[in-house]
This record gives sequence, structure tokens and C-alpha cells, in this order.
Amino acid sequence: MSHIAHFRFHGSLNDFLRPRQRNTSISYTYAEHQTLKDMMEAMGVPHVEVREVLVNGERSSLSQRLEEQAQVEVYPFEGGEAELLAGIAERRFVLDVHLGTLARSLRMLGFDTVYEQHLHDAELVRLAYEEQRILLTRDVNLLKHKAIPAGYWLRSQQTEEQLQEVISRYKLADQLRPFTRCMVCNGHIVQVEKQEVLEQVPPKTRLYFEEFYQCQQCRRVYWKGSHFERMQELVRQLEAQGEV
Ligand SMILES: [Zn+2]
Repeated sequence: MSHIAHFRFHGSLNDFLRPRQRNTSISYTYAEHQTLKDMMEAMGVPHVEVREVLVNGERSSLSQRLEEQAQVEVYPFEGGEAELLAGIAERRFVLDVHLGTLARSLRMLGFDTVYEQHLHDAELVRLAYEEQRILLTRDVNLLKHKAIPAGYWLRSQQTEEQLQEVISRYKLADQLRPFTRCMVCNGHIVQVEKQEVLEQVPPKTRLYFEEFYQCQQCRRVYWKGSHFERMQELVRQLEAQGEV
């Protein structure tokens, strides 16, 4: 036997809906066994982006069953709320296999970011759950896994815009720690004596630079060359974004 409920999705949750469903009441036909989570996700909205659900004006859990003709209001995380990071002590991330450039950028800004080209969806979900990491992806279906504690669907396909989305959603503009994490392997980088890394550095760099840094994990050597100036410019832009 089927039943009908009336949904309205608020704010950024409309990004997941078909155009004619946005900002309006949606009559949804459901079967007995379906929970609120099932219904919302069938309409395209992943649970990790939902902050609160009201059923006939009362706060409700996602595992709840509905009464006939229920009125359901679904509200998004607006960014920065404590609930967003429920159970997550630190802003640490795990990224899906298509987000290599974004992963490098987040590491460059000092954020602990797991990214590997070969990880399957099940491994991404496991990492998010076991290491309590925020899962970032362009794949809405991936975010529907129940085990994922926190996650975000990147709206843009451009790396710079994606980076701005993440900084803004998780209020990270005042937490940037550039030059502390290896862009290649996510290890910590620390300053080292020039003498120690001389053999790993091209001759011209040896001439022009005195300060060197090394990844404690993969031993890659860094110095503040031209890419560092580009990075500083980006950091300035992102910090300014946080002050708006
Ligand atoms: Zn490294």
C-alpha cells in the first residue's frame, strides 16, 4: 500500500532537486517500509547536507516513519554550525578519486586531506567513518551512505571555486596554515638545514634559497619559490573572503 507525504526543501537543498521541485511543496508517494532518509534520498537529497527535519511542525529523526499526509520541512546546514561537525573534532577531509587538484590545494593550506587515486567508494566511506573525516565529492550517491558522519557535495566543477566553497562552508578562513603539509602525500613538513637536503635541490635553487623544508613522510624537499608567491596570493584572497 502506498501513502502520500508533502515535502518542502529549504535553501541549498534545492540544488539537489529537479527545477520544477525547487522551493515548492512536493507530494511524494512512498511505501510502508520507507524512512524519511529513504524518501529524501530518493528525491536526490543526501542526509549529510540535512540539518533538521520538521514533521507537522515537530522536530524528527531521519529514521522516522510518517503518518498519512504528513507535512515535512527539510532544512540544510548553512555552514559553520556545530552540528555540522558532530563528532568531528577537527576539520579533516577525505576526497573522492576525481578531486586530486583540490586535495593538493587543501594540503597546501595545511588541512589533513586523504586522497588516493585508487580508493573505491567503500574505502572512502570506511575512511570517513573510522577516521571521522568530512567526505568531499561531486558524487551525490556517495553521500547517501549511512556510515558517513559528515560530507559535502561540491557544487562547482572548478577547483578554485570548490576550494572557496569548502573554506566558506566549514569556516576555515582563519585556520589556514600554509606550508605545513606535503601536497603530494599529506605528511607534515618541517624546516631543515640547507646542508641536509643539498643533494635533492637543483643547482640554481641552491644558489638563490637558504630556507628549506622537508616532508617527514616522503622526504620531498620544498622551498619558497615562485609557486609560494602564488600560494600566498591565494591565501590572502581566502582570508579576505572569511572577513566578508
Ligand atoms: Zn610527502
